[in-house]
Amino acid sequence: MAIKDIDWSSIGFSYIETDYSYVSMYKDGKWDEGTLTKEHTVTMSECAGVLQYSQSCFEGLKAYRTEDGKIVTFRPDLNGQRMIDSCKRLEMPEFPMERFLDAVDQVVKANADWVPPYGSGATLYIRPYMFGYNSVIGVKPADEYMFRILVTPVGPYFKGGAKPIVLRIPDFDRAAPHGTGNIKAGLNYAMSLHPVMEAHREGYAENMYLDPATRTYIEETGGANIIFIKDGGKTLVTPKSDSILPSITRRSICYVAEHYLGMNVEQRRIPYAEITEMEEMGLCGTAAVISPVGRVDDHGKQICIPTGMENVGPVTKKLYDTLTGIQMGTIEAPEGWIREIKAD
Ligand SMILES: *Cc1c(COP(=O)(O)O)cnc(C)c1O
Repeated sequence: MAIKDIDWSSIGFSYIETDYSYVSMYKDGKWDEGTLTKEHTVTMSECAGVLQYSQSCFEGLKAYRTEDGKIVTFRPDLNGQRMIDSCKRLEMPEFPMERFLDAVDQVVKANADWVPPYGSGATLYIRPYMFGYNSVIGVKPADEYMFRILVTPVGPYFKGGAKPIVLRIPDFDRAAPHGTGNIKAGLNYAMSLHPVMEAHREGYAENMYLDPATRTYIEETGGANIIFIKDGGKTLVTPKSDSILPSITRRSICYVAEHYLGMNVEQRRIPYAEITEMEEMGLCGTAAVISPVGRVDDHGKQICIPTGMENVGPVTKKLYDTLTGIQMGTIEAPEGWIREIKAD
């Protein structure tokens, strides 16, 4: 067993085929026992539920190599539970929690050589997903489903350090009130592609969506939750809403802010107008952990975050360092956060 000889710092965030994926089929009302596979292509009916009516959901987490050489995942139980919640909303069969954790362990262990070395900044991205497999032409849920996990190494999100990004307020909504904004459904991403490409064409990194019902409260971006720092660095504020995705990174950051840094944490509705009181702003998600935001543009009006376009705010930096330290094993983790994947 030897770690692959790859220039880990240059791989970026794109799909690289590894040795094994995991697959399990749901048929006749039950899941089969599941297996590792070297087959990285899926063949199915042209009329499959996922192709016709987008019946699919997914998860995203990472495996890390810690300082002392262990391979670990970070809070995979929360991904398993969130996928169960997504499946319920989409009339898909739940993949049981214990099976989810075991499948993640198996596929990471089988691809252990693809887990980048400690200190490289790269990690092994893990993508569990499920979709309606059999043919469906009348609008209804599929009867057969495929659950798969693919893994692919990803490079450090920020090459040469985190640079603040600029967001815009779009004219589109990400989610409908009482819709699917709170689950990790592929369809949420399909409809975010046009707004995000439009944002890119205008020179913005992402869209900051307001609440779809009133457009007066801050929600999230296309793929990351938002945190703010205020009150002289003493308080972390993050939006509470039924139409945002419950980010595991954001929930972990809130815990770190309260229990490691002694901050006040407020999870509540945040009026858009309150943005002028914020001292630091960041986007949080598995891919980048925290991306600092330097400015938000609203149809020609610029809202400048005090930390500016050159620097990462001091509290954002402390949160980032503490959380990544917990993930990489240099800072003691809260009970149950780190799952070691033991070699045989
Ligand atoms: C996946 C996702 C996030 C981030 O969630 P993490 O669990 O932290 O990776 C945030 N917003 C949306 C819309 C997402 O799909």
